Amino acid sequence: MNEQRHQPDTDAIRIQTERTWQMEHSTPLFLTSSFCFDNVEEMRATFADETDFNIYSRFSNPNVDEFVKKVCALEQAPAGYATASGMSAVFGSFMALLKAGDHLLSARTIFGSTHTVIDKFLPRWGISCDYFDINNPAELEGMIKPNTRMIFVETPANPGLEIIDVEWLAGIANKHNIILNVDNCFATPVLQKPFLSGAHLVTHSATKWMDGQGRVLGGVVVGQPELIKEIYAFCRSTGPAMSPFNAWVLSKSLETLHVRMERHSASALALATALEHHGQLNWVRYPFLESHPQYAIAQQQMTGGGGIFCFELKGGLEQGKRFLDALKMLTLTANLGDTRSIASHPASTTHAKMSEEDRLLSGITPGFIRISVGLENVQDILQDIEQALEASKI
Ligand SMILES: *Cc1c(COP(=O)(O)O)cnc(C)c1O
Repeated sequence: MNEQRHQPDTDAIRIQTERTWQMEHSTPLFLTSSFCFDNVEEMRATFADETDFNIYSRFSNPNVDEFVKKVCALEQAPAGYATASGMSAVFGSFMALLKAGDHLLSARTIFGSTHTVIDKFLPRWGISCDYFDINNPAELEGMIKPNTRMIFVETPANPGLEIIDVEWLAGIANKHNIILNVDNCFATPVLQKPFLSGAHLVTHSATKWMDGQGRVLGGVVVGQPELIKEIYAFCRSTGPAMSPFNAWVLSKSLETLHVRMERHSASALALATALEHHGQLNWVRYPFLESHPQYAIAQQQMTGGGGIFCFELKGGLEQGKRFLDALKMLTLTANLGDTRSIASHPASTTHAKMSEEDRLLSGITPGFIRISVGLENVQDILQDIEQALEASKI
């Protein structure tokens, strides 16, 4: 495989599995469970880690390796491991690096399934967790315990787009010898590189912007080689490997990630700006709007605001339901980061089972709407949102 030689946007295109004797231009799909050896000595040496040949696709596979190499080049991180989904990347890093008696410190505003893993499953194995308020980072250092082993954050966070200064956070993590794990799903390495800001691990759901077309699940963790080695050792034996087919799809997707994120960000900023003072809305939030509470950090840490913006409807829960039903083009679906724009109303759908109090603690008010901005013409997206705001008026 070609080593990194170019700018990240070129590497995302040119890093490629070594060409076979067929002289193909595009990487072939290596749908194979295992790999062959010429003789027993070669097989012995490979099992003894004396070669880097492939053995079995639960451990490594050329398509998966190509995808991981590209993400490493994009994040400027030295090592990585890809998994079947974003959640197996999150879970794999927790299980590989935390043990009974350890403490995890996580921002409260995180992806719903990550909450479930932390609240329902980690305690079974004697791993405790406390949540800090991402809007009040000053409280974080006082919550660190002698057994705190990892700090976990999303920035921008799902769904409310709260932002935290990764470089500042890395300073605190290093002072207390704690692993800093940043879920970079919303920004992608195109808009922000947490590893370069000092994070020890960067976690992704590749299902979202990396695929960008709503087709396959995937996850990846990159970061410090000694931490990735632990994650690899855990995953190689427990089996959350990325499928070679999904890796092949995702590696192709990364070739267009830079142009897509530029367009997603430009359209989201245009929409957030156009809607900011709309009469049906209490507020609009987007990292690159000056009114965002952490606008200064976003400007310093990100090169674009990303493809998600959110707003609060004046008519609360009832208008939220009516707004979703009134949309003609935007899709109602449990995903984000697609070519097609998606609207979601967490209070009546994905987060309806939570208590109102817990929802509010996570920044989800009754009229909260999240828009994942697709690649359609921005005027068509704006028109659909505006007509649905008009039609859902209470
Ligand atoms: C979707 C998502 C995940 C989980 O990823 P899957 O690929 O769905 O398992 C984790 N973190 C964030 C921020 C997400 O949006």
